[in-house]
Amino acid sequence: MKTDFINNMTHEFKTPVSTIMIASEALRDPEILEDKSRVSRLAGIIYDENVRLGDHIERVLSIARLENREVKLDNSPVDMNILVEAVADNMHLQLEKKGTVLSLQLDATQPVINGDEFHLSNVIYNLIDNANKYSFDAPKITLRTRNSGKYFVLEVEDEGIGMTKEHTKRIFDQFYRVPTGNLHDVKGFGLGLNYVHDIITQMGGAIKVRSEKDKGTLFEILIPQN
Ligand code: ADP
Repeated sequence: MKTDFINNMTHEFKTPVSTIMIASEALRDPEILEDKSRVSRLAGIIYDENVRLGDHIERVLSIARLENREVKLDNSPVDMNILVEAVADNMHLQLEKKGTVLSLQLDATQPVINGDEFHLSNVIYNLIDNANKYSFDAPKITLRTRNSGKYFVLEVEDEGIGMTKEHTKRIFDQFYRVPTGNLHDVKGFGLGLNYVHDIITQMGGAIKVRSEKDKGTLFEILIPQN
């Protein structure tokens, strides 16, 4: 799995680096410099690829920090209904691209938990991003919040590709990705769910998954409330 990860990672880093190289080389060409629309297009490419690169670096660094137990989680009141809505809002463009229909059922009447807003928003982002990535065209995703005893519960449900029991057992392992045969169109490092699991367990919570191949997947996150 580590070799797969390194191959994946190498590809993910090399592609933006070589794109930036080509675009910036083109910008040194005096002939191109005279064509304003081409300059602007090239600058746009460099900007976008640089954002992508920054994103990768951030992901690798956050994993390294987690491994070294350097992540100190903040413990402040966070309204999860508001946070879920904000993350979903931020992902609007990304979801729109794939024609995703996102439904929110924010039924938690006590949505405030104590936690780290930054990491919790990453957790929510990862789950929605996965639901979107591992779905067919025009994905349907439902986000639900509720209170259950001493817990705040967040559910992220999709009607996507799903997976077998064997695989659901391993998806929280670092670098693990469900083998997809010759379908290699979905990008990822197999780190997202491992991160989600780490953050939620550090908070004294739990994460459960129920999935059926070709039908869909439901992730349930439980966070203790005092
Ligand atoms: P990745 O970067 O590969 O998406 P994750 O750690 O987020 O890494 O997920 C691990 C693996 O679990 C994924 O590669 C995918 O095979 C599977 N997976 C995660 N979420 C879903 C989902 N909602 N539906 C189907 N499979 C999923």
